[in-house]
Amino acid sequence: MVSLTSISAGLKPTNKLYLNDSYLKTTETTLLRYVPETRKSGYFVTTDTIMHPKGGAQPSDTGTIESVNFKAIVKKVLEHSGVVIHYGDILEGVPREGDRVSMTIEWDSRYRVMRLHTAGHIVDYAVVQILGKDLLSSRAFHGPPESFVEYIGRAGGIDPASIERISNEVVKASKRVYPVWVPKEELLKTVRGAPNLGRLPELETYRVIVIDGVNAIPCGGTHVANTAEVGGILIREVEAVENGFKVVYDVSD
Ligand SMILES: [Zn+2]
Repeated sequence: MVSLTSISAGLKPTNKLYLNDSYLKTTETTLLRYVPETRKSGYFVTTDTIMHPKGGAQPSDTGTIESVNFKAIVKKVLEHSGVVIHYGDILEGVPREGDRVSMTIEWDSRYRVMRLHTAGHIVDYAVVQILGKDLLSSRAFHGPPESFVEYIGRAGGIDPASIERISNEVVKASKRVYPVWVPKEELLKTVRGAPNLGRLPELETYRVIVIDGVNAIPCGGTHVANTAEVGGILIREVEAVENGFKVVYDVSD
């Protein structure tokens, strides 16, 4: 295993195109660095990326990256000091730094994660509505095999059916979902019903995902543009965990 520190050394943070447009399925960019692991696998850093790295409660995207010199499958995407590192297998050829590359996302899995992630924000809203107060979450994951949010506090009186009913009202109301960028001084003025305030990184500017009339949550992930795209939210389980409760959910097709 090559260290992520050495792979990203001296490189500027990657331009994450998905922060402005989560619907980009393909893009052209430049291969800044290629670090081979074996003859048939290695690490790619590009100027821009459409792929979300593992982290921020989301799984890694997958896809392909290729130029006239090579073709590779991206199996895992990681981030180190703002540099996005794509790891994968070389199918043919040899990557050359400076190559103009074309990057494509495995869209079906990504789109499902966008629906699951947006559903997570809607579940946050439903839980706040039921408990009648904002709360904090300790952990979350929006992707297969199991999507969930863990909240700090007592679940008293929360049943899966109520969360599901309120969540699906938001889905059916076709609310717009979009990012806004706010300086840190204005963050608390902008957010509403955000459960993750206790575990935000220190930043100068925050990306906040607004669901019109529902909530506004600091988040770096990928979401759908309208709650109707979520399709339907299923609450699988509400279970007690250490310090709180866990809501396990899924989206229906
Ligand atoms: Zn999010």
